[in-house]
Amino acid sequence: MGRNIGYGGTAPRVPGSVVIDLGRRMNRILNIDAENASCLVEPGVSYFALYEEIQRQKLPLWIDTPDVGGGSVLGNAIDRGVGYTPYGDHFANHCGLEIVLPNGELLRTGMGSLPGKDGVDNPTWQSFQPAYGPYSDGIFSQSNFGIVVRMGMWLMPETGHQSYLITFPRDEDFPAIIEAIRPLAQQRVLGNIPQLRHVIQELATTAQPKSAFHSSPGPIPRETIRQHASCLPVGDVSWVFYGTQYGDAASISSQLSLIEGAFAAIPGAKLRLPSDLPPEHYLHSRVSVCSGVPVLRELDWLNWVPNAAHLFFSPIVPTRGRDAQAVHDIVVRLHAKYGFDLLPTLCVAGREMHYIVNIVYDRASVDEKRRAAALMREMIAETAAEGYGEYRTHILFADMVARTYSWGDNALMRFNETIKDALDPNGILAPGRNGIWPKRFRGKGWEILGTEVEDALDGKGIGPSLS
Ligand SMILES: Cc1cc2nc3c(=O)[nH]c(=O)nc-3n(C[C@H](O)[C@H](O)[C@H](O)COP(=O)(O)OP(=O)(O)OC[C@H]3O[C@@H](n4cnc5c(N)ncnc54)[C@H](O)[C@@H]3O)c2cc1C
Repeated sequence: MGRNIGYGGTAPRVPGSVVIDLGRRMNRILNIDAENASCLVEPGVSYFALYEEIQRQKLPLWIDTPDVGGGSVLGNAIDRGVGYTPYGDHFANHCGLEIVLPNGELLRTGMGSLPGKDGVDNPTWQSFQPAYGPYSDGIFSQSNFGIVVRMGMWLMPETGHQSYLITFPRDEDFPAIIEAIRPLAQQRVLGNIPQLRHVIQELATTAQPKSAFHSSPGPIPRETIRQHASCLPVGDVSWVFYGTQYGDAASISSQLSLIEGAFAAIPGAKLRLPSDLPPEHYLHSRVSVCSGVPVLRELDWLNWVPNAAHLFFSPIVPTRGRDAQAVHDIVVRLHAKYGFDLLPTLCVAGREMHYIVNIVYDRASVDEKRRAAALMREMIAETAAEGYGEYRTHILFADMVARTYSWGDNALMRFNETIKDALDPNGILAPGRNGIWPKRFRGKGWEILGTEVEDALDGKGIGPSLS
């Protein structure tokens, strides 16, 4: 559907490309199987459309939506996006693909490759992911090896749920908070992938512009955040943990006691439920997202600056205090260097976390755009030097990020190129996507590296013309 905002939107990487809008007419929900708790969708099915169809049929099923529900169920999963119910790892919860290969052939993966009786779809296509032989689905995620035209997704049977937030008063407790989350996540006490946000996001999610809090140029000072936060419902705190527990009332209550007990190790930690907060507080929107109801509220914090556009910086970091602190220190220092407010949202699992930074900038300002790009480049390079890599990136940074995955003399990229050339010998499908260039483009200077990113923003061109 092309709503990959922060990671490239609808833009193709090579000028002159034909953009295939799968969202407009390939928008059928082909099946919802209530017994199997699964669905089969085309690329143009949005989270809202799937949610509404399930409501219309009155089925006791949840979808799993990212923070913004306007995108494509299939597109987000194929880009390995995330959501916030127990089914939040979207690619891990897909089951079966149908793909148009670059040579025009149609391929079904998983159990779908075994024909069903009398020409119908195999009845276990949405029940078992790998089937027989190599599991090939992964190579069609974040790649340019094929166009996925059907995808099966598992749906979660609806259940009781309780969202909550926990505030922590001191900035410096950040590594201790991560240490406290790890065992709770590994033991699966935490019901979903929780988010850890800095209190600056409490200001931003009021949907008020930054100018309502701070009128001078440059980043908003910590002391100013403190003053304004003290007038907001959560008060003068530092980090805010947003979680949700699932099950019946008794089990949620015992889970919450365990969680409260674990976080009590951090002085001043305080748990609040939605009923403790006014109706406009952001926690109420998390109640929706974390129980499979798509919303658009998350877009509110893009009011932070005028003409806001944004870039996501999303390194994968071990769920360990010292690693979290190492990445945080780099990010804090570089945001100060380039003059941006730091708006972090960390999605924390048991063994890794997506440390997601949202760089919000004024897209009418050439200077801000250049600084945002330079900040991205420097964060990618510095964190990679410490061993942390991005899970997903904007198309402008695809070559740079791809090059950070260079182990074994770029063995992974050489492997990807081998597959690309075999499946797409004419190099027609999304050249350069995720840094994978087909043979006909390779070695001809198409990669965007270093300050070429900023030059591309200035409209100075992004590569040689094909001879
Ligand atoms: C405020 C805000 C919050 C966000 N929160 C989240 C979040 O919580 N989780 C999250 O995951 N994202 C988040 N995003 C990022 C993004 O908006 C979503 O991931 C969104 O769902 C992606 O848009 P889409 O589904 O239209 O993707 P698309 O643009 O359709 O797809 C993404 C990419 O996948 C590839 N692709 C898509 N369809 C196909 C296909 N049929 N075959 C082959 N390749 C294909 C394309 O290369 C495309 O560029 C957020 C963005 C904003 C602005």
